[in-house]
Amino acid sequence: MNPAIRIDPETGRKIFNTRAAKASEKIAGKGYSVLADQKLKELPEMPAGATFNAEEQAKYRSFKEARRGAADYMAMEGEFKKYLDDVYSEPPIQREALTDECEILVVGAGFGGLLLWHKLSQAGFTDVRFCEKGGDVGGTWYWNRYPGIACDVESYSYLPLLEEMGYIPSMKFASGFEILEYCQSMAEKFGFYDHCLFHTTVVATTWDEASGRWLVETDRGDKMRARFVILANGILTTPKLARIAGMEKFKGASFHTSRWNYDIDLRGKTVGIIGTGATAVQAIPELAKIVGQLYVFQRTPSSIDVRDQRATTDEERAAWANEPGWARARRQRFAKISAGRTAIQANDDYLAGKVPDVKEHKKYDRKLTPEELIQKQLDANFRIMEQIRARVDAIVKDPKTAAALKPYYPYGCKRPTFHDEYLPTFNLPHVHLVDTAPRGVSEINERGVVHEGVEYPLDVLIYATGFQWMGTSTFNMITGRGGRTLKAKWETEGTKTFLGLHSRGFPNLFIVTGPQGGGGSFNFTDAIDAHGDYVVWMLQTMRERGAAIVDVRQDHEDHYAEHCRVVDIATAPLRDCISYYNGEGNATPGSLAYYGGGQWHKHRIAAQSSLEPYVFEGESATLLAAAK
Ligand SMILES: Cc1cc2nc3c(=O)[nH]c(=O)nc-3n(C[C@H](O)[C@H](O)[C@H](O)COP(=O)(O)OP(=O)(O)OC[C@H]3O[C@@H](n4cnc5c(N)ncnc54)[C@H](O)[C@@H]3O)c2cc1C
Repeated sequence: MNPAIRIDPETGRKIFNTRAAKASEKIAGKGYSVLADQKLKELPEMPAGATFNAEEQAKYRSFKEARRGAADYMAMEGEFKKYLDDVYSEPPIQREALTDECEILVVGAGFGGLLLWHKLSQAGFTDVRFCEKGGDVGGTWYWNRYPGIACDVESYSYLPLLEEMGYIPSMKFASGFEILEYCQSMAEKFGFYDHCLFHTTVVATTWDEASGRWLVETDRGDKMRARFVILANGILTTPKLARIAGMEKFKGASFHTSRWNYDIDLRGKTVGIIGTGATAVQAIPELAKIVGQLYVFQRTPSSIDVRDQRATTDEERAAWANEPGWARARRQRFAKISAGRTAIQANDDYLAGKVPDVKEHKKYDRKLTPEELIQKQLDANFRIMEQIRARVDAIVKDPKTAAALKPYYPYGCKRPTFHDEYLPTFNLPHVHLVDTAPRGVSEINERGVVHEGVEYPLDVLIYATGFQWMGTSTFNMITGRGGRTLKAKWETEGTKTFLGLHSRGFPNLFIVTGPQGGGGSFNFTDAIDAHGDYVVWMLQTMRERGAAIVDVRQDHEDHYAEHCRVVDIATAPLRDCISYYNGEGNATPGSLAYYGGGQWHKHRIAAQSSLEPYVFEGESATLLAAAK
């Protein structure tokens, strides 16, 4: 057995052996099944004469207003900290605390960390160290292992480095377990494990002006120095709980979906699940297959679109084997689709490059104004939602349950979901929808959930209450120039970045897919890929210039932040509901995800060709040597 830390005789650098993952044999429901019943895989015809008229608009508005202020989430602190325990790993590998220096320190070992390592090492930057809270790689796909988990973006466009890995996903929507194993294979193939400190949470990142280094402190007592810090710690990383009176009293077993406890045998048990977002939609059909009674506590229904899962075909495998660059080309085609539903449902002919466009676009005899364009999108959006609501009526037999399962908000305003077994699950006699609209569950006691005076005794309570959006804890512990924290800067000035990647006063720090940089596109891998390329470009540019430090100019940052605000406001009618995307209706425009689409690339290209937004300082012999 290798020690946790040893020295590479060739480079003199440290090699780590801190992976602590353990396999679980108890996992059931590994992803979506392929259904034979065609009727379950189609949306009903568009209801005749469906228009987003004043009456329908008023219905959407009252649906929204009734929920305003209902979302009250809390961090998992104090007695609720137990919900954050890493249930997927052996105890952390013991190792000495590190007080040395590396060139580049990356926080996070999900797709972001893995892709960064591939790009950085290819470009010759090998003095790279990763810190990861969990016991193995995968990030989202390490932490989320609930039954039924799968990606919602087709796996051929979503999984990174498919060609480099010589891998083709087994299904159009690969299960989370397949994705986790794929992450582990990537880490093995590209030598990632040697560079990663697992079970190591970064707790403070402080800029030291005198040395031009970041001091990175962790919960393992490390005090490391790094010239560059890259935050790849995700956008849906920190689980949250709905604040419900009496939660601490419940005597049965309970857990959050992002720490699924397979040691609790759910077979035949009475189980409650709070939340009906994207996770719950995937988990509920699988839960219903094994539990005795299932109570689903819903505040707001999700839009349940068609999944149409299928296995990868032999023809696809054969075609891709003879088509160099197929995966990148496919992801690029996917990225060109501007409408959420079209992207997710995108037809294979378009994605495979057999037809030039995803659909025929309507031609207008004059250029429409931005307002007219939004109105057209809202009308089309309404018609899709009508079909989604009609699907509920067509499948769910009990009219009261069907009525409660119908969402009244624009498509994509809350995270859209896709499933062909979710709605039929509510026809099963042991599955009960408890409609807690619009305020949600208000009380939990020793025995279970109480709603409107009715007690629902439970053996097990599962919280499917989601994650913080775009606010991983790292943003609370970064201290830049002049001792100012990133949190303090953004609280006083509003969120301000350049391209989402830099924030002035925090030199040599890169934020991957953070606020103003990511999240507005459907396929996260696309943003991670673009941000990774950008970081490598910047390091190469600094290498060529011999620069040691990069920061950004105030005017460029202000201008970019204003652009984020403008594009958020312009597209806001498409997100007019209470959702985590808009901070439950409270977010300042431009402060969260980026909604400018391809305009991000225009800003990037302009910056890269003029170099005007950047302030380069100092000289760096070490960087030049490290990246020869
Ligand atoms: C259930 C689920 C399904 C999803 N499905 C899709 C999909 O189909 N398509 C899509 O495009 N996106 C999807 N997403 C979004 C998904 O998060 C991204 O696609 C992508 O996996 C993010 O990768 P990442 O590396 O940036 O972040 P993550 O995968 O979140 O990884 C970040 C890592 O950073 C670690 N970390 C955080 N803070 C610290 C710290 N202070 N110190 C050390 N380590 C830290 C975390 O432990 C985590 O492992 C899904 C998200 C969820 C939760």
